[in-house]
Amino acid sequence: MSRIRGKDTKPEHRLRRALWAAGLRYRKHARTRAGRPDIVFPGPRVAVFVDGCFWHGCPDHYVRPRTRAGFWAEKLRANTARDRRQTLELESADWLVMRVWECELHEQHDVDAVVTDVRRAVRDGVRSPAARWVVVRVESDANDHEARHEELLRDPSSHRCVHRVRQTRKRKRQD
Ligand SMILES: [Zn+2]
Repeated sequence: MSRIRGKDTKPEHRLRRALWAAGLRYRKHARTRAGRPDIVFPGPRVAVFVDGCFWHGCPDHYVRPRTRAGFWAEKLRANTARDRRQTLELESADWLVMRVWECELHEQHDVDAVVTDVRRAVRDGVRSPAARWVVVRVESDANDHEARHEELLRDPSSHRCVHRVRQTRKRKRQD
């Protein structure tokens, strides 16, 4: 949590390098009507965001901080709301938006799979994956039992609740 979200986080670097190696030419943080996506293909209008698991509510890796609970809850709410707004705004302007979790970029074979998805987006206009759940709110009791409320990124009316004990397991990294 001490890590500040920077413009060039490592998983993002890894993806850029792999895209470049695959012959896919992108622009970095190019301006669009809905902000500056991490990776932009202006011609085919494809925008790729690399989202940190903590900041953007990854269902597998979001960890609820125990201190300053109100602050962090609001932070998560605001971030996920912005992700949704940004995504829908771009899509309504005929952009194809891909949002990739950082945890999908730790292993090389996962990076390769994302590169394949980006290529399909750029060449064929196919978006994948189709659906994406995000954690928008977490309720907890004194024993760290959590009710994790999740919504589909593109559908505010969707909802599911996942019950589990607070986990802080670190993601596996290759470096
Ligand atoms: Zn994750």
